[in-house]
Amino acid sequence: MKTAVFPGSFDPITKGHEELVRRAIPLFDKIIVAIGVNSQKKYLFSLEQRMKWLNDVFADDPTVHVDVYEGLTAYYCQKVGANYMLRGLRNASDFDYEKTISQLNNIVGGGLETIFLISEPQYSHFSSTIVREIIKGGGDASPFLPESISIG
Ligand code: ADP
Repeated sequence: MKTAVFPGSFDPITKGHEELVRRAIPLFDKIIVAIGVNSQKKYLFSLEQRMKWLNDVFADDPTVHVDVYEGLTAYYCQKVGANYMLRGLRNASDFDYEKTISQLNNIVGGGLETIFLISEPQYSHFSSTIVREIIKGGGDASPFLPESISIG
């Protein structure tokens, strides 16, 4: 069984995340969208809220599962029997960062392979950071969010 983990903070999930997962569905038997919890990090939205949004967005696809983990992503992948990690590439700075992480994960995760999908052009400027800034500034973030989500 080909299982991939798509890790992230999803604070909140954006259309960019959604599009990436939907394009990856035909490539894997199972995709686990996994929220990585880092106790040092401050999040805008609660873990429960972020999980609910992910569950709502992917409710229509039985091969997409939502989970939460702590600690190294590579160890989490081993724990759930995933040989692949899914990541998105929006630009050159994503590439520089992701390249190093994927090489490290391959060693730490005992052969774990990272599969990259290039963001579709209309979503390549979408990020959770931008969405948080819009929300904090009292703006309307709905153009950046999946259809099934409304904030504010
Ligand atoms: P992190 O907390 O690790 O920064 P995010 O929750 O922001 O993670 O994103 C998780 C993954 O989704 C990353 O691989 C990131 O590159 C990818 N991603 C985020 N936004 C987009 C987008 N607009 N298009 C494609 N991939 C994206």
